[in-house]
Amino acid sequence: MVLKKNNIEVYPVNVPASNKLKSFNFFLVKQENSLTLIDAGLNTDDCWNALQKTLKDHDYILTDISGIYLTHHHTDHIGLVNRIVSTHDIPVYAHPYAKLVLKRDTQYIKMRVEFFRKLYQEMGCGEFGEKQVADLRNPIILGENKKIHCEIQEITNNHLFGFDIFEIPGHAPDQVAFYHKECKWLFAGDLLIQHIPSNAMVEPDYDGTRTKTLVQQKLSLEKCLSLNVEIVFSGHGIIIENPVDLLTERIKEIDEKANKYINIIKSGISTASGIAQLRYKEKYEKQFFNIMSQIIGYLDYLESQGKINKEMEKGIWNYYL
Ligand SMILES: [Zn+2]
Repeated sequence: MVLKKNNIEVYPVNVPASNKLKSFNFFLVKQENSLTLIDAGLNTDDCWNALQKTLKDHDYILTDISGIYLTHHHTDHIGLVNRIVSTHDIPVYAHPYAKLVLKRDTQYIKMRVEFFRKLYQEMGCGEFGEKQVADLRNPIILGENKKIHCEIQEITNNHLFGFDIFEIPGHAPDQVAFYHKECKWLFAGDLLIQHIPSNAMVEPDYDGTRTKTLVQQKLSLEKCLSLNVEIVFSGHGIIIENPVDLLTERIKEIDEKANKYINIIKSGISTASGIAQLRYKEKYEKQFFNIMSQIIGYLDYLESQGKINKEMEKGIWNYYL
């Protein structure tokens, strides 16, 4: 498959996923004299073989890739970076914030674990939350095995190799979009997925304060809507043509869901963990990080809109109308 417009060609690499993400997508982009890779899938043979096949289908080989741009630091977007760069040394670009994470900066990782430990305590998750943070398999630990070994070039310009670059935080604090203005094509990482709403994951900012990720997510969706984009190249699922309706729907969904949380608080449940257990039952334990992320995101969102308030009692935040 190839998408062509003006002087740009996109060869999508699409690898089926067995979970709700449906697929892992990353993109080879050909412009005049360059062939760049936007995102790099998972570190699996499936992704590696799919990349090789896509290159071959278009008469390229691996060493023709001249640079890698990362939309955000999640492991399903950076997987092949080490493999590719070990064959030939090319620049890898990412948001400055991603660098700390990708390089597994010791100070940062320490701060991050402490951030989540305190967060879950204050959200009323008690011993269960403590155990989750201590579990080395959890997604917040950021294992050394997924560390990126090469230099990361920080994206500090709003323009790079024919793309305008926008920060679109929410799903990840370091998420950026690469926008080809003439084509109105947007490579947007996981900002917008056709078949599921994208999760706004709770994260600490550089200094360890909590970012209001859902507030950011909504602003990023609105930003994308304002660009009048024709195609969104999404990290999962199908390539989204004419995304206006979907963007509008996703923005609307945020407020509809927020209202459901207001109703739960109205019914007298006041802590984030209480809300999580009521709404998600046994899933609370199985999908702890995602669920707490979502609920804290919504509570922050409602608080920033002045619809709810919080008060600390015995070290735990209680939310009320
Ligand atoms: Zn992601």
